Amino acid sequence: MAELQLRSVEKTYGNGFKAVHGINLDVKEGEFMVLVGPSGCAKSTTLRMIAGLETISCGEVRIGDQIVNDLVPGKRGIAMVFQNYALYPHMKVHRNLSFGLRLRGASRQTIQSSTDTVSGILEIEELLDRLPKQLSGGQAQRVALGRALIKQPEVFLFDEPLSNLDAKLRASMRVRITDLHKRLRDEGRPATVVYVTHDQVEAMTMGDRICVMKDGHIMQVADPVTLYERP
Ligand code: ADP
Ligand code: ADP
Repeated sequence: MAELQLRSVEKTYGNGFKAVHGINLDVKEGEFMVLVGPSGCAKSTTLRMIAGLETISCGEVRIGDQIVNDLVPGKRGIAMVFQNYALYPHMKVHRNLSFGLRLRGASRQTIQSSTDTVSGILEIEELLDRLPKQLSGGQAQRVALGRALIKQPEVFLFDEPLSNLDAKLRASMRVRITDLHKRLRDEGRPATVVYVTHDQVEAMTMGDRICVMKDGHIMQVADPVTLYERP
């Protein structure tokens, strides 16, 4: 029940600059939507409005049957993964993973079993007692992914999550994220995804559909084959 809908969404920044011009977008439950477009076209602004990290100047964002415009990030049923991982530097990996659950007041048992499950899936069991500064980029990004996954959100938001990784790691993380998305679908808890990237390979290989933005407008929404394969 977590379709994501944007209805006539606009963003005007404090300095008067209109970054997003009345966009409409439907991301179906369990769909992997990739957001592409040149730097400055408002991909990040759009994602941050969905996340609740930026106010919505006009229009509506709906997640499931709820209008989330006035909800804080923690109440939106979303989890976000950032390019710079955004791990808490003073907390060990296991604490980073379980932070969201602790805030929600989860029991020790739940925290333990969720941490076990998620670290197994992402193969980070060996890293649980390290601090973020003791992780490589690829390891840190797996922890960041784990921190999102452990909350079992209905909507995952990714802001260029692989941009800081080298080409080989990017390729393996692409597969990892796609597999994870399939796995959640197979387990009957489909995750709705909005994934911002400027990498065409990521867009083509990961997206069920691709949304192309330019200057704060949506130019086109199409599946990868339609968009990239020229006859
Ligand atoms: P993208 O993610 O596609 O690179 P952004 O969403 O970061 O684009 O930015 C969209 C536009 O909004 C850009 O022109 C950017 O300069 C502008 N912008 C971003 N943040 C602010 C802000 N806090 N105040 C004013 N303008 C901003
Ligand atoms: P939780 O504690 O369950 O993670 P939060 O309200 O802290 O819920 O955050 C929801 C999502 O938004 C999280 O993925 C979090 O990383 C992100 N987030 C919240 N506040 C900020 C912020 N100030 N800057 C960047 N990301 C944030």
